[in-house]
Amino acid sequence: MNEEEQKRIAVFLEISADDFLSRFCEERNGIIYVRTGEDNFCIFYQRGKGCAIHPVKPGRCSLWPYYNANINDEETWDMAKWACRGINRECSFEEFVRQSETGER
Ligand code: SF4
Repeated sequence: MNEEEQKRIAVFLEISADDFLSRFCEERNGIIYVRTGEDNFCIFYQRGKGCAIHPVKPGRCSLWPYYNANINDEETWDMAKWACRGINRECSFEEFVRQSETGER
């Protein structure tokens, strides 16, 4: 997450940016990530409810599943479809690529 994303989430959670960083984030190789919980899921993921910070979630999360790896490789797209319950498994690779090109989602 960049600083703007961190501040946006902190405001949403009604805590300071420093609090957000210390309670919910970790740094790896100079990059700030949302921490994972003991279940290895994102700390903001709520089973049965989804993302607890959905309106302000990081840009990378908003982009999913329209990542280059999925757009450029059908096998990767197929794996993503089966790994992520949020993806429509009926969606063909061709349709997915078309959506990524048109911005239609
Ligand atoms: S959308 Fe992003 S922030 Fe929200 S639960 Fe999933 S990984 Fe976490």
